[in-house]
Order: sequence, then structure tokens, then C-alpha cells
Amino acid sequence: MTDLRFDGRVAIVTGAGNGLGRDYALELARRGAKVVVNDLGGSGSGQGESHNAADLVVQEIRDAGGEAVANYDSVSTRQGGAAIVQTALDAFGKVDICINNAGFLRNARFEDLTDEQIDAIIDVHLKGAIYVAQPAYKAMRRNGYGRFLFTGSASAMFGHAWQANYAAAKGGLIGLSHIVAIEGSAYGITSNLLLPTAQSRLAAEMDAGFMEIPAFAEAVQGADYAASEGRVEVPFNTPLAVYLVSEQCTSTHGIYSQNSGRYAKVRICAADGWVAPMGVTPPAVEDIAAHWSSITDGAIAHEPLTVYDEFTAVAKAARRQGLI
Ligand code: NAD
Repeated sequence: MTDLRFDGRVAIVTGAGNGLGRDYALELARRGAKVVVNDLGGSGSGQGESHNAADLVVQEIRDAGGEAVANYDSVSTRQGGAAIVQTALDAFGKVDICINNAGFLRNARFEDLTDEQIDAIIDVHLKGAIYVAQPAYKAMRRNGYGRFLFTGSASAMFGHAWQANYAAAKGGLIGLSHIVAIEGSAYGITSNLLLPTAQSRLAAEMDAGFMEIPAFAEAVQGADYAASEGRVEVPFNTPLAVYLVSEQCTSTHGIYSQNSGRYAKVRICAADGWVAPMGVTPPAVEDIAAHWSSITDGAIAHEPLTVYDEFTAVAKAARRQGLI
């Protein structure tokens, strides 16, 4: 297979001063992309600011013969998002790739979450992704080409204690990526969501105290968990992330997981379920109780790619159930 190259492409990577974003930026630059290395330079829980994180990555890229510029704005404000995209336009004249990756954690038990912990996490992960993606989308639309990668989390997709704020924000990105994919398809723009895993400083923050959570303590004591955890290094995410923003990858509207070196598409499916008799009379509560096993039976499931798909799937289920 020929090398996947990014010559002539301009990429924005948010939160590229550390962890996953840093590795994505280095790999994209190694493969010829011009990169905007955005990073606010705060701590793992999002406190403080510094130019150091972004500057070091830019220097590393330039030392290796690549092209990069730093940006230190926070993704968490509309002005910050606009300034990040403007940095790409000023330095390189366009935006082809936008990897929304910046973020931090403020974990707490659900009942203890404060407004500060909720707002900071929604601002950086959910609003931050919108604030950067919106001006980037406009720039991509002008050129009829674009690749978005949003950074979700298994916490939102599958569940994880003490992260209600984070999972709510990351869950929002599932919907955001879907809509960008649907609307962007007319302009050569793709959008996908990655569920990464990595032993970054963010993960170190996360593991503190988790043995108190029964489901976590039980899982980590199993031999299978130990066998996979050793492969959760940052660079395992990079090949999938970089492929998803390449010209060669035309897949869109997807959710992909990297877990311990396992690369997989994650699908959102609906069971065939029970279709109420046709007509406008809704079923009774007792009808739901009586059909609970059919409603929850996942033996026949479909994967709606849009809301319109789901209507069609219901009609097919009704036909299978002899109702139409
Ligand atoms: P990290 O802490 O190593 O890197 C995140 C970077 O984002 C930091 O350099 C930080 O300064 C920057 N940042 C934070 N707030 C910012 C802001 N407002 N504006 C600009 N930059 C900001 O963490 P990481 O593990 O590399 O995480 C990267 C992404 O992956 C995050 O969105 C995280 O939620 C997600 N994620 C990570 C894991 C994992 O296991 N590490 C799992 C699921 C999802």
C-alpha cells in the first residue's frame, strides 16, 4: 500500500500540546500536513495557562523539517474558536482538517457535581468543539473539502461512574458529529467521532480513587483487564485518527473505538421491537408491559443512519410483524 500523505493539507489540532493531540499533530506533520498546534497549556484539570505546551510541539515539528504554527486560545469561547481557525487562514490560507481534541476532567460523584464542574466541562468539550468546528466548517465549505474528527469517550458511549458532566458533554458530540456529517456531505466534508483510550495525564487524573467504584474494582481485578491495559498507550490512537482525516477515507457519520489496540466501528442499533397495531390509537401501559420481551429483544436489530432511516426501519418491522 502506498503511503498516506497530507502534502498541501492544512490541519487544526486542538489540545495538541500534550497526549493524543500532540501525537496526532506530529504524525500529520511527518506526513506533509501544515499544522496549527492549539493548546491553552493548562493543567490536567484545566487550571492555568502557558504557551509552553504548544510551542514545544511546534518546535519539534519544525526541527523535523515540518510546518506548524502555535495558537494559545481557549476552545471554550466563541472568540477562541474563531481565533484558532483564523490562525490557520492567516498562516496557511485554508482549513482541510479539524481534529477537536482539547479537554480536561473535573470528576465528581453525580450528587456532588457543582455548577463550576458542570460548566467548565460542557464549555471545553461540547461548546468548545462547536466553537472551533463552526468557523472551520465555513472555511472547508468554501473549498468543497473537509475532514472533521471529534473526540468522544467510552464514558459517554458505555458509561463510567463519577463522570456525569464529562459523559453528558461527550455524548453531545455524538449528535454534533452526526449532523456535521449529514449537512457536510453536500460539500465534500466528512465527520467522524473517535472513542480513544490512553495512559495520558488525563487518564492519570481519572484513575485516582476509582477503586471505590464496585464495578471498576471488580473489572480491574480480572485477568482480561490486566492483559489489555498494558496496550493503552497514546500512539495506539494516532493511526486510526490520522486515517479518519485522510483524503483516502471517505467514510463519514461513524463512531470508531480504539481500545487496547482493538480498532472497531461502534454501532448504534435499535431492536426490531414491538410495533403497536396500525391506526392512531396509542397502546396502553399494559400493552408495553405485555410486549416487554419483544421491545427489549435485540435479536433483529437495525442501524438507522438518519432519523429518516428509522421511520423506514419501523415500517419494515411492522411488515415482518404482519401489520401492514
Ligand atoms: P491531555 O491532558 O494529555 O491533553 C489535553 C490537552 O488539551 C492539554 O494539552 C490541555 O492543555 C489542552 N486543553 C485543555 N483545555 C483546553 C482549552 N480550553 N483550549 C485549548 N486547549 C486545551 O489529555 P488526552 O488524554 O490527550 O485527551 C485528549 C482528548 O481525548 C480529550 O478530549 C479527552 O477527553 C479525550 N479522551 C481521552 C481518553 C484517554 O484515555 N486519555 C479517553 C477518552 C477520551
